[in-house]
Amino acid sequence: MGNFVVAQVFNAVEPIVEAPIMENSAVSRRVLIELLAAGGLLAAVPARTVAADSAPHVSPNDPIASALGYTEDATKVDTKASPNYQAGEKCANCLQNSGAAGATWGPCKVFAGKLVNENGWCRAYVRRS
Ligand code: SF4
Repeated sequence: MGNFVVAQVFNAVEPIVEAPIMENSAVSRRVLIELLAAGGLLAAVPARTVAADSAPHVSPNDPIASALGYTEDATKVDTKASPNYQAGEKCANCLQNSGAAGATWGPCKVFAGKLVNENGWCRAYVRRS
């Protein structure tokens, strides 16, 4: 993959995920870009919005999800690997999530083109005020 393409992806994703990731985890920009490229998510980056009933769900085994400690059940967060997790945090009350109230799955800015479980959690979590 050429550096130009990587730079384009970085520019597209950075405003969405940089601050939360840097605040809440040790995931670096370089690692994020490498994971995006390896995960084949480049095509999904321009599609920042997604219909809640038509998109695939994020798998905890997805390379980016795994790197961010994503789980579909926040009560099962590995607190040794994710010491910043606090009880009550979940995708439903995360700033990155734009899912409809009461929906089981919703879009997340970190996982463009896919849906996260509203009871899930990852290290890019930012409490919605
Ligand atoms: Fe992570 Fe969930 Fe927040 Fe997305 S909505 S950043 S998966 S905690």
